[in-house]
Amino acid sequence: MARAGSVLFLLASSLAVSAGSWYQPRDHPVHDLFKRQNISVSLSGAAAIGTAPWIAQYPADLTKATVPAAWKAAYDSAVSKGLIPNIPPATLGTDGVAKYATGFDPLSAAVCDSSQDCRINGTIPQVWDALPGHAGISFDDGPLELATASPLYTFLKQNNQGSTHFMIGSNMIANSDSLKMLVQDEKQELACHTWTHPVMTTQTDTQILLELGWTLQLIHDITNGRIPKIWRPPTGASDMRVCAIAYYVFGLTTVIWNYDSNDWQIGATDATAVYTDESVTASLTGWLNGPKTPGLLMLEHELNNHTVGCFINTYPLHKSNGWISTTVSDAIAAPSWYQNSLNNTAPLVALDVAAPAPSAVPSPPAPVATTSTTPPASAASASASATKGSSKNASNGVSDVGPLAMISSTALLGALLCSVAFW
Ligand SMILES: [Zn+2]
Repeated sequence: MARAGSVLFLLASSLAVSAGSWYQPRDHPVHDLFKRQNISVSLSGAAAIGTAPWIAQYPADLTKATVPAAWKAAYDSAVSKGLIPNIPPATLGTDGVAKYATGFDPLSAAVCDSSQDCRINGTIPQVWDALPGHAGISFDDGPLELATASPLYTFLKQNNQGSTHFMIGSNMIANSDSLKMLVQDEKQELACHTWTHPVMTTQTDTQILLELGWTLQLIHDITNGRIPKIWRPPTGASDMRVCAIAYYVFGLTTVIWNYDSNDWQIGATDATAVYTDESVTASLTGWLNGPKTPGLLMLEHELNNHTVGCFINTYPLHKSNGWISTTVSDAIAAPSWYQNSLNNTAPLVALDVAAPAPSAVPSPPAPVATTSTTPPASAASASASATKGSSKNASNGVSDVGPLAMISSTALLGALLCSVAFW
């Protein structure tokens, strides 16, 4: 606890001296974290996505993988600066709720377990809501097999609709045909959802480095070197330690959600409800017919034809109700989808890593205990944890954020980043 407290003090001190020039310095280690691998990745040829040489670049078993030296150096640097809280990994109770060691209150600001609806209070970037009037369309847990992925990707393409895909690394390896289809639609933002879909608050620091780092490396390799800016923790479980590693080592902002469709539970029954195509569709319909503030970050999945069907069936409401429906990054006013590129088609830039200003993170409401502790499902994990409740949380929409001065090494990104609000 003492160490976590000193971290907050250091952050506050840093804020005081750096106001007005929020950026990571050029020597921020994320610049060196993701070198191009040994082979060039393409959609065809010997090293194409899905081929043996491509697969061989990535860990076949993450439990046996080692942390590359660059990631370890970045982590060690963050630890030496007191930026990574020393919170012991939690364990999952039989009720699916994370249990922390004695003295580590999951609802305290020093721990702040998002699976128990604690919102980090301005020290590390974490987003729960979209801008008013915006609906950030996202799909977790992909890609799945082509029979499942193709209908969704075809629908998005036909509607010229951008969305964000929080990808599981092992699923990208296992379903490379779907992955190839996805990366050919330039309107789709690729973001990180970890390699094996664990409950991240239960993972060691080393496991967190591997889960995030290898997923980023793969996305980097298939997007000509783009480094995602956002990640979503599986089951919505993050805390100050997890978010600090994500941000200070890899430059990632943590994105949760403000509505849980429970689409992954279709066909299942939990303690409080029976989830069906009809019930999930009714939930999505209600939110899309509801108030515009805060904007929508609805948890949806590309797991199967049921989850995809619920999205497709309710998609017309995005249009008829006048939502500005976009990728998550666009819906939360991030200035770019990737840390080093505006989107999938803009050029890569050697910008200074666009770290957000801690002071610009909206002030969250006081932590409240969750009332929903149903276990989640995923394509890649048998893990279970608490999930977000499906009722809308109090707004902490990014519309409240102040302007952020960003410094980049190029006029393009410099102009962009200096002129827009950030989270
Ligand atoms: Zn997931």
